[in-house]
Amino acid sequence: MKKAAKAAPAPKLTAPQGHPGDGSLGFSTRAIHAGQQPDPATGAIVTPVYLTSTYVQEEVGVTKGYDYSRGGNPTRTALEQNLASLEGGHSAYAFGSGMAAITTLLLDFDAGAHVVVSRNVYGGTFRLFERVSRRHGFRFTFVDARDSAAVEAALTPDTRLLFLETPTNPMMELADIRALSRLAHGRGAKVAVDNTFLTPYFQRPLELGADYVVHSATKYIGGHSDVVGGLLVTRTAEDSERIHFLQMSIGAILSPFDSWLLLRGLKTLAVRMREHARNATSIARWLEKHPRVRRVHFPALESHPQHELATRQSTGPGGLLSFELDGGQAEAKRLVESTRVCSLAESLGAVETLISIPSLMTHASVPRPQREALGITDNLVRISVGIEDEADLLADLDQAFAKL
Ligand SMILES: *Cc1c(COP(=O)(O)O)cnc(C)c1O
Repeated sequence: MKKAAKAAPAPKLTAPQGHPGDGSLGFSTRAIHAGQQPDPATGAIVTPVYLTSTYVQEEVGVTKGYDYSRGGNPTRTALEQNLASLEGGHSAYAFGSGMAAITTLLLDFDAGAHVVVSRNVYGGTFRLFERVSRRHGFRFTFVDARDSAAVEAALTPDTRLLFLETPTNPMMELADIRALSRLAHGRGAKVAVDNTFLTPYFQRPLELGADYVVHSATKYIGGHSDVVGGLLVTRTAEDSERIHFLQMSIGAILSPFDSWLLLRGLKTLAVRMREHARNATSIARWLEKHPRVRRVHFPALESHPQHELATRQSTGPGGLLSFELDGGQAEAKRLVESTRVCSLAESLGAVETLISIPSLMTHASVPRPQREALGITDNLVRISVGIEDEADLLADLDQAFAKL
């Protein structure tokens, strides 16, 4: 029991040495144990879903660290401590969606702030920046973040944030997190990385110099297409304090049940990511040799123009790939409508394999000239490779290609 000042944030307990949150333990061990001590009331090994909005105070102002669930909830705290450990951050904060996490980060900056953003960011991020935040005085410059000189040229004295997504989707373009962080910090700007596609299992931006990591936990962290959530990870105590204040003030929090689902997803993150990457690599190599495929975009292939950077800043490729078909939109449509194991659907990052045509689905609202400038041609097909049996996925693609 501790005396907590009124409206004080719930404590972010830092794990003592030797505790499963300790960075000296392996990734999988921390994914299963960090932030998840046996329930103090019953010894339950699984963190309970604390469905409560308020907490009884023993005396006025004397709490067990929680006073109202917008500010803190034990199930959410367990998730936040777990992800902070996996990303190597000081703290993490859970939100109702990836977009809510990004919005909360943006509101840490003042009106008038200029933000440099990698082109080809997630469509919802583009919409939030250009169509919502611009009205509130933020300014954005979109750059090809593969090109450090282009990023440098875009930084102005008003730039407060460099927002990177790497790799991008569906073109799998990479940004050099270490080099660009050094550049941005030299100009007094902070750096945020959307790490949704590789997850901390394959890429840890804070260790490469970034200040913030954001996630759509809806994708690989949840991993089972059954929850929408977002996470924001901070590197320093000062940033953590401000983000916690914003999380509590804005209130775009994740529910206890969804926090529990994400904790459950995280326990198998390492196993799933290894399988996603293994299946995706097999499919990418198979596609690369296929006579009806012009080009495969997948950073683990030696043919990827940034393969060297991929091996330097991440330890694996994830499960997302795209390829250009030999043919037009009609052939692409026939292919994706002919698969039986791969489901025709948007979204990504879950156990089941999803196939889509970005120009007709996820990126249909981007005007054609802009789309083509980004490389999203009508014959581009994207696959979010799941963890089904590799042989079944290859056989499925083979029979679909035979229909062309
Ligand atoms: C899906 C996605 C988002 C948005 O997350 P939601 O959970 O859908 O709000 C942000 N960034 C990337 C890279 C995504 O794929």
